[in-house]
Amino acid sequence: MPIRVLDPQVVSQIAAGEVVERPASVVKELVENSLDASSSQISIAVSGGGVSLIRVMDNGVGIASGEVELAFSRYSTSKIGNLEDLESITSLGFRGEALPSIAAVAQVDITTCGVSESVGTYLSLNDGAVTNERSQGRSQGTTIMVRNLFRKVPARLKFLKSLATENSHIANVISQYALAFPEVKFNLSIDGKVTLRTPGIGRLIDTVTEVYGLEVARNMMEIGDEEWEGGAADSALGITGMIGSPAVSRSSRGYLSFFINRRWVSSRLLAWAVEEAYHGLLMQGKHPVAIVNISLPAGQVDVNIHPAKAEVKFQNERLVFNTVQKAVRQVLIKSMPVPKIEAPATTYAAPSEQRKLLWTSSGSGDRLTGLPPPPLQTPLVALPVLRVLGQLMSSYIVAECPDGLYLIDQHAAHERILFEKIRDQKARQGIEVQGLLEPATFEVNPRQDEVLKSHCDSLGEFGFSIEPFGDRTYLVRAVPALLYTKDWAGTVREVLDSLSGGDWAESIAISMACHSAVRAGQVLSDDEMHELIRQLEQVTLPHTCPHGRPTMIQLSSGQLKREFGRS
Ligand code: ADP
Ligand code: MG
Repeated sequence: MPIRVLDPQVVSQIAAGEVVERPASVVKELVENSLDASSSQISIAVSGGGVSLIRVMDNGVGIASGEVELAFSRYSTSKIGNLEDLESITSLGFRGEALPSIAAVAQVDITTCGVSESVGTYLSLNDGAVTNERSQGRSQGTTIMVRNLFRKVPARLKFLKSLATENSHIANVISQYALAFPEVKFNLSIDGKVTLRTPGIGRLIDTVTEVYGLEVARNMMEIGDEEWEGGAADSALGITGMIGSPAVSRSSRGYLSFFINRRWVSSRLLAWAVEEAYHGLLMQGKHPVAIVNISLPAGQVDVNIHPAKAEVKFQNERLVFNTVQKAVRQVLIKSMPVPKIEAPATTYAAPSEQRKLLWTSSGSGDRLTGLPPPPLQTPLVALPVLRVLGQLMSSYIVAECPDGLYLIDQHAAHERILFEKIRDQKARQGIEVQGLLEPATFEVNPRQDEVLKSHCDSLGEFGFSIEPFGDRTYLVRAVPALLYTKDWAGTVREVLDSLSGGDWAESIAISMACHSAVRAGQVLSDDEMHELIRQLEQVTLPHTCPHGRPTMIQLSSGQLKREFGRS
């Protein structure tokens, strides 16, 4: 094909693709515009996963009647004027791309009324072209309706996920901006139901309560703006926000929010800084809850490196990393004079062929069980018969077999046993269920709400009887018997948070096993240890827990002799 200049309509579709990836990106751009317009109230309504309708209504400064059409042409913005302005951006938007991009892939209606205008303007666009314009009454502010998103871009439509997933992305965008702007009153309704409402009186803790629920809010600690040792005092870097005590840790990083000069960004560097601050305070695989606001001179951060402006680049990464880490660590240390530090878990290396051979059942072990000896040299996964010697540090079972010594991680081993039991019971549709004496209410955050709405049934298959009960609240009537006296609510939350990753049924089973297994630090009686080992001998994969970590380490008699210098 010869080289030729693309048709303007194709160009606008390509450009739109960079900004508008999915319905939640439209919501993000529109809400950012409302925030840039100094709104104190923003209401968002969506239906059909945001594909049928997205409506964002604000009470901001509005657009002057003579500029409404211009706002929809590419690269028109009121936020920067020249090259120098690009060096010191203080608004969330600045490229003048969002409105034209949205209009290129949807039907858009806008009603807006600028400051000190007596009458507003209504403008309607289809495929980016204006189809109607007239004066219309409206109080100061802007309402934008976006309908039939991607109807003319089937390739995009095809890549959208389920309604629940798109809704959960939208709920997340609003939750994040609500956390960044506690002084703004947000109202999100999804398919006619209010999903999130914040008071907008400027207190972050109120927003945290609305977004994450009371349990999390009760465990949040404020990051003070005091000067910490070697910290921000001499730089222009300010850190505020709230962090959760280690007691409210979560199994995903979805509860880490970062705002740079109030822009919501995702940053591996910052996530790492916060997690470093929690080092030793959380169990492996657990992540903290944190809302971290970083303010710094606009010239020290480049916000123009990502199409959706979701990532930024700091001039001095090291300074930012150190300051965030110290600020968070300081709050943690202050709140916990005697932190209980978990022993660092050993890093897991996949067993080599040779190590697998060490686990091969020995002849004498089989004599004890009366089973025929296994064929020689097969790297079996079965365990030899073990004799329990005792418990170490209330966390490990010490056992021996003729081949040597075993140290078994009681939590990981029990997790494996329960995981296989749950999986087998589920396959036979025989999960044991225990009714609660009184139905319990269960609160979820907007994101979890969207997931739970459509997954009550799958949880039902695992023994949870959960039904909707008003605003982001559910009624739980029964739980799997295994979890009856355990943290079943934590299990459900963990499962809801892990939606995006892979196999649902498997993550439910893993989470149930993890929450119902004996803990490290729990003293076990001889009988309990024997029973655990007996059950471990029965499972199909005794050497790793369902997360893939080892359940045991072995010191062979040969190794012992070598260590002690015996031949
Ligand atoms: P940008 O935000 O990068 O400037 P947009 O395409 O998102 O580009 O918006 C174009 C312009 O339209 C903005 O610069 C602003 O002047 C105006 N605008 C958009 N939304 C609103 C709103 N909700 N309230 C007031 N003005 C708005
Ligand atoms: Mg914008």
